[in-house]
Amino acid sequence: MPQPAYLTGDKAGIQEFLDKFDVFLFDCDGVLWSGDHLFPKVAETIEMLRSKGKRLVFVTNNSTKSRADYKKKFDKMGIPCEVDEVFCSSYSAAVYIARILKLPGPKNKVYVLGETGIEQELESEGVSYVGGTDPAFRRDMEPEDFTKIADGSALDPDVGIVLSGLDFHVNYLKLATGYAYLQRGAKFLATNTDSSLPTAHALFPGAGSVGAGLVKAIGHEALALGKPSQAMMDAIEGKFHFDRSRTCMVGDRLNTDIQFGIEGKLGGTLAVLTGVNKHEDFLGEGKKVVPMAYIDALGDLLG
Ligand code: PLP
Ligand code: CA
Repeated sequence: MPQPAYLTGDKAGIQEFLDKFDVFLFDCDGVLWSGDHLFPKVAETIEMLRSKGKRLVFVTNNSTKSRADYKKKFDKMGIPCEVDEVFCSSYSAAVYIARILKLPGPKNKVYVLGETGIEQELESEGVSYVGGTDPAFRRDMEPEDFTKIADGSALDPDVGIVLSGLDFHVNYLKLATGYAYLQRGAKFLATNTDSSLPTAHALFPGAGSVGAGLVKAIGHEALALGKPSQAMMDAIEGKFHFDRSRTCMVGDRLNTDIQFGIEGKLGGTLAVLTGVNKHEDFLGEGKKVVPMAYIDALGDLLG
């Protein structure tokens, strides 16, 4: 297998690499910033790419935020960005439900395991939902809940979809309710299935680990709508109409970002070493997910 090109410090190599692409799909956390810490020269790099006429789309698996939340974060970080350039997994799931699934009423309501990012994006697509941040679900399971869930009186008859994302208040009541809908035939979707959530301190359980209780209970995986799912790639392509051969995915995580670009048959993938994976994860023989090129930090693209 050809080994990836190392671009840090290679001015001619960077130029040649950038010239291959018109569109860059950017992962956010681990590439632009880590939590609230902006990496050096990121804003300048984004500006340099824009000045070369490159089209940028910011593709993140974070479902706890909406596109509007991300716009605020970009503003705070001093990176120019339009709401329409953000494609987060909460939005990806909402678009899939509203425009692709198009479940005929009355089974078009969504039961949400997740935070406000999902709720806002479902609202923006005109999809109704229950669960989510509703305080009625943020409590211990009481004995009568067992009967009410079992006989269906605690369930909304219009729910036809269970959407699982990162929920910081996951509890037994939420899992039991989601499982009940799934047993009644609801479609099982996930915003993303990241096993872990990188933070400035350590790795924490990610959306995939929160949804794993439902996966185990019902016995099959959810259809994931975040990276590396190609349902997300198709949705991005549907919105931005890009030429895949002239598009590059930039990311820090091999099993989400780089896999996403490779499976999507994009023209290139660029791994950035400021996040989850390190060069020993893809260099050498027998590695499964190998980027086309890699760089120590995004700011190194300035040359
Ligand atoms: N999910 C959550 C809840 C997050 O907070 C993050 C990163 O902040 C991610 C997923 C991963 O995001 P990205 O795809 O931008 O690396
Ligand atoms: Ca990332």
